[in-house]
Amino acid sequence: MMMNRRLLSLMLMVLPLVAAAQPEQPIEQWKGKTILLIGAHPDDDSYSMGTLAMLNDNGNEVYIAMLTTGNVGTQDPDLGMMDLALIRKQEEQSALATMGIPTDHYINFGYDDGMLEYENKKEVVSRLVRLIRQIRPDVLFAFDPGKGSQRWHKADHRTASYLAADAARAAMWPLLFQGQIALEGLKAHEVREYVLYDSAEEDINTWVDISDYKEKKLEALSKYVSQFSSGWNDYKGPDLSPEEKAKVKEMLEQWFPDRNGVPVEGFRYYTGSPDDIGR
Ligand SMILES: [Zn+2]
Repeated sequence: MMMNRRLLSLMLMVLPLVAAAQPEQPIEQWKGKTILLIGAHPDDDSYSMGTLAMLNDNGNEVYIAMLTTGNVGTQDPDLGMMDLALIRKQEEQSALATMGIPTDHYINFGYDDGMLEYENKKEVVSRLVRLIRQIRPDVLFAFDPGKGSQRWHKADHRTASYLAADAARAAMWPLLFQGQIALEGLKAHEVREYVLYDSAEEDINTWVDISDYKEKKLEALSKYVSQFSSGWNDYKGPDLSPEEKAKVKEMLEQWFPDRNGVPVEGFRYYTGSPDDIGR
C-alpha cells in the first residue's frame, strides 16, 4: 500500500513533465495556428527562422514583436542611435520578406537597446498583454527564461524572456489590465503552447528539421548587414558585394546546429497553463 501510494505520487509528478515534453503534433505538421514571437532585438528571430518560415508556408499566421529598436548594436563610430534603429527596422523587414512573412506582421515596441531591464516593467507587460489579447496566439515563441540565467544571459534577452512569460500569464486574467477589456473591447486570452528558443542544450526537448529552409534562413540572416558582416564596424548600406555575402553566409552556416548532418533548430516546448510555465 505504502509503495503504491509512493508510486502514484511519483507518477502524478512525472505525468505533467511527460505531457510537456513534445508537441502532440510535430511542429513540421502544424497548420492554421497563430504564432507570436517576442524578442528583444530585430534579429532575435534568428534562433527560429527556419521554423518560422516553414510555419508561415504551412498556413500558419506568424507575428514578430521586438521590444527594442536595436539602436545600440554597432561598433561603427559613425552611426547614431536613430540611424541604427532605422537600419535595423529595414533589415528585419527585409529578413521577414525573405521568409515570406508579411512585413506588417512586424511590431516594434521602440525601447532602447541594452536598457530593457530598466524600463517600467508594468508598462511593458501591459503593452505585451494588449498585443497578446489582440493577436490571440495559439503559440508563443520566446527566449527561454531558464537559460543559464543565473550565470550570464544577455540582459535584454533575460528581461525579454521574463516579460514575455509574465505577459502570457497576465493575459489570461480578465481582472489584470482590466481597462483593455472594459474600454478597448479586448478579451482575456490564454496561450497554451510555448516554443522557447535559445535554451540550454540539456533543456531542448524538440528539434525541428529545417533542411528545406536552410537556404532561406541563410538568405534572411544575410539581410542583417549591420550585425553579421563588415557593416558591424563600418556600415556602408544594405547591400553586400556578392563575395562578402557568400563569406557571410559561410560564416553563418557554422553557427547552425545539426544533428547527424540534418540542419535543425532546437527548442524547449511547453504546453499547459501559463501559470505553470517553467515548472
Ligand atoms: Zn538579441
